[in-house]
Amino acid sequence: MASESQTHETLPSHHDPPLTAIVIGAGLGGCAAAIALHQHGHRVLCVLDKVHAFGRLGDSLGLGQNAFNLLERWGCDVDEIKRIGNQAPNMTIRRWKDGKELAVQPLMDMAGYIGHRGDYHDCFLKWVGERGIEVRMGCEVVAYEDVDPQPVITLKSGEKLAADIIVAADGIKSLARPLVLKMRDDPVSSGYACFRAFFKPTKEQREDEGLNKYMKDDCVNFWVGPDTHVVQNTLRGGEEFNWILTHKDDGDVPESWFQPGNMDDVRRLVETLDPDIRGIIKQTEKCLDWKICYREPLPTWVSPGSHRIALLGDSCHAHLPTSAQGASQAVESAGVLATCLDLIHSKEEVRIATRCYEKLRFRRTRQSQTNGEDLRDRWHGVLKGVDEDREIDPEDVKIKNRWLYSYDAEGDAQTRWKSIREVVEDEFRAGKISPLC
Ligand SMILES: Cc1cc2nc3c(=O)[nH]c(=O)nc-3n(C[C@H](O)[C@H](O)[C@H](O)COP(=O)(O)OP(=O)(O)OC[C@H]3O[C@@H](n4cnc5c(N)ncnc54)[C@H](O)[C@@H]3O)c2cc1C
Repeated sequence: MASESQTHETLPSHHDPPLTAIVIGAGLGGCAAAIALHQHGHRVLCVLDKVHAFGRLGDSLGLGQNAFNLLERWGCDVDEIKRIGNQAPNMTIRRWKDGKELAVQPLMDMAGYIGHRGDYHDCFLKWVGERGIEVRMGCEVVAYEDVDPQPVITLKSGEKLAADIIVAADGIKSLARPLVLKMRDDPVSSGYACFRAFFKPTKEQREDEGLNKYMKDDCVNFWVGPDTHVVQNTLRGGEEFNWILTHKDDGDVPESWFQPGNMDDVRRLVETLDPDIRGIIKQTEKCLDWKICYREPLPTWVSPGSHRIALLGDSCHAHLPTSAQGASQAVESAGVLATCLDLIHSKEEVRIATRCYEKLRFRRTRQSQTNGEDLRDRWHGVLKGVDEDREIDPEDVKIKNRWLYSYDAEGDAQTRWKSIREVVEDEFRAGKISPLC
């Protein structure tokens, strides 16, 4: 998947020869890591992914301005993402039973651009390819040796690879987490699961006035009710339609992106929903059943031996869907890690860079994660026991993500570098790295 073309200038490396890196996982987080490292002059030997080919997987995913600003700085044409994202100026938060408007906000308040994950992923992969970085498919990492001066990884084929730094962007079910950090990675149920469907409505459905109210143009709507909500996202002027129904988890759904959902259960759950959206949901042929799990915050993201294997993205800071920041925070982490590797003086100091990286990132990702929990709780609680005629204060249901977008993760890393580095050096001198939480 590599291409030799080099479309833009990268920063010069302060290291001679440049630091070498291997990225595990070619999801959005791994791609962002490869692009950021390359941009900062580091040498990305390859990006490895265990699957043999990527399909158009998932459905709606949001990318915020905080991610766009970094990607643009790294020479990526973010207009490609903007063009394929939802073009609606606003989104509407509605009452479950009748669609009554509770709040209207600019779409930018949620996630910036909401598009199909698979389409966004294609863009990220293309940007990696444009930089001449090799993406090796069908390469599953099965073992890690956390040794100096270069950690070693073993692929399922038996091949071994080494680099100055290994970035484990291997997703929510990360193998690096138990193997490298020696931490159990039991999923914690959030108490909720989603049924999700993404499809092209038929001509008949698009022409049916009883079904097509939200199918005519790009639009985003949310219906909130007690312990439940529905997200609707219409793309490409109505050609593609996506709904996601979050409901109380009854405990028997596995954590998987591929688990088929039972449409009879869906039809039962939407029986009391606004008829303007209920019709098309009930007519949907198939959906996925996705248990919303999270992991407890990790006390470290970096390997304890060489300090040269660093986790990034969902492997260390997975988000709830209501945060709409999972991919954007992975992009921020990529920028911070690449910046930290810039700011060290020698290869021997990679351990200082990785330890500063986790310290610089932890609080920010926790804030972004808990922001999503807060929104879900407000949506699920706002109508509980409320008199039907009482007006809801729009502020109670509004998405409050805007403060996340003005942040420059790389700039913040540069500003705080000196003081964080002093803390890390003190910890190394004392022989004890303090846990992140
Ligand atoms: C199939 C799928 C569908 C998704 N759909 C949505 C969605 O609809 N909406 C949404 O908001 N988010 C979705 N997500 C999550 C979203 O993509 C992430 O939150 C975000 O992009 C950050 O991802 P990441 O790169 O850290 O992890 P991921 O996107 O999970 O990528 C991890 C990558 O690592 C690879 N990998 C794992 N283990 C190994 C190994 N041992 N060796 C080599 N490679 C390995 C995986 O194959 C995968 O490509 C989905 C994720 C997946 C995997």
